[in-house]
Amino acid sequence: MNEIRLHNTMTNRLEVLEPVHKGEVRIYTCGPTVYDFAHIGNFRTFVFQDVLRRFLRSRGLRVMQVMNLTDVDDRIIANAAAAGVSIRDYTEKYIEAFLADMNTLHLEMPEEVVRATDHIPDMVSLIERLQAKGMTYASDGSIYYRIAKFPAYGKLSKIDVAGMKSGVRVDTDRYEKDDVRDFALWKAPKPGEHFWKTEIGPGRPGWHIECSAMAMKYLGDTIDIHTGGVDLTFPHHENEIAQSEGATGHTFVRMWLHAEHLIIEGEKMSKSLGNFFTLRDLFAKGQKPSTIRFLLLSVPYRRQLNFTADSLKQAENSVERLRNFMVRVKTEQFPAGSNPEMGKRVEKAENDFDAGLADDLNTAVALAAVFDLVRDVNTAMDRREFRQQDAPRLVATMEKFDAILAMLVDDDAEKLRNLGIAPEKPRLEAAEVEALIEERNAAKKRRDFKRSDQIRQQLTDSGIIVEDTKDGSVRWKYK
Ligand code: AMP
Ligand code: ZN
Repeated sequence: MNEIRLHNTMTNRLEVLEPVHKGEVRIYTCGPTVYDFAHIGNFRTFVFQDVLRRFLRSRGLRVMQVMNLTDVDDRIIANAAAAGVSIRDYTEKYIEAFLADMNTLHLEMPEEVVRATDHIPDMVSLIERLQAKGMTYASDGSIYYRIAKFPAYGKLSKIDVAGMKSGVRVDTDRYEKDDVRDFALWKAPKPGEHFWKTEIGPGRPGWHIECSAMAMKYLGDTIDIHTGGVDLTFPHHENEIAQSEGATGHTFVRMWLHAEHLIIEGEKMSKSLGNFFTLRDLFAKGQKPSTIRFLLLSVPYRRQLNFTADSLKQAENSVERLRNFMVRVKTEQFPAGSNPEMGKRVEKAENDFDAGLADDLNTAVALAAVFDLVRDVNTAMDRREFRQQDAPRLVATMEKFDAILAMLVDDDAEKLRNLGIAPEKPRLEAAEVEALIEERNAAKKRRDFKRSDQIRQQLTDSGIIVEDTKDGSVRWKYK
């Protein structure tokens, strides 16, 4: 079995995964800030995390993954106040939408999905521990982390701490500023703002403290893997390290994994730039859930993903190729017996797939293993070299791949219906298309051209492109 190597941002190297607890991998994932719908840039990172956990599970490892929902920050407080509703009511609908979107993309639910506002006491006690160690100071009712007390500050992002302007405090959850030094652990309430009454005074938590408190509460002082998008490296993850290690004196995270951004027209997709698509935006334009999942996982997570109309089309075609292949495997009549070469070929694909993922989740290599297999088996089938008894093994292997890819079963229409979106055209399942094509061939044979034209029209109306090749066979695909 190939050793699992992952790129650790801390050391900037590939490292072999060696979990603290044998057989179990503990993962913390920075979840969404639920003040709006998540966009597909966010989902790029969440899909990467899904591939990670599915791959580890395919290796027989137990996964204990915790994802937070940031349901309190400046924007949430302001938006809730403007809408005249409580923070809880305001965020509820975005939490629901996020969980529904996860389901639509076949993202497995982490073992714990936890809200910041349910963990205020945990954050308060972590701040108290830091206070007891003299790592904080109070100012105007807020409490700040004094990074001068944590000499290792900057070790993850390799920023030059000495070069940072001193005395500049971040007074906001927005994290674009470059000249951050000390950061807020606890924020005094502004007039009219929602606040919690606590032992450390009235107020609300800073953004960074929530992840430290929740990660350690559920996963212990030292966790195996912490994930997020690259934009979180600094200051968010740097601050999490300062808080957690400042309080416990232990290594907080053994491996830091960061996903590169999804970009559109050369820029990071982001709410603030306004250049974003939500899943629902894309579904309204006729895209399918499986297309988006394929696109988001097809580019290895440490490479930027350039989102274009072309890449969507390619992703859609790729999913169709896989699904059509499965229909062929399951419906075509193959010659009796088995071909030992096929067994070897399938085994090679399994190994290549696993080796790709074990190499820092290289999904491009893993997918190439799948598509190479599909091509070779199709060729073998055309030559009648693929036999009846080769099919079950092949199907089992494809299903093993699909435990990670999650796209072989055509449930796109159902997923859309669950979101209240009607698919554009009545879609025919691949098996139905095959059956219609067979019927059309039979009609042609008995020179019933009225019926064969009728079937062709039905297929066209359902978005199926039928192509009659010179050798008399028929090829088809979804438009
Ligand atoms: P947020 O809701 O802004 O806290 O972001 C949720 C997750 O999405 C974080 O891990 C971010 O790093 C990630 N993220 C945000 N924008 C992008 C993008 N354009 N591409 C990939 N990941 C992103
Ligand atoms: Zn976080």
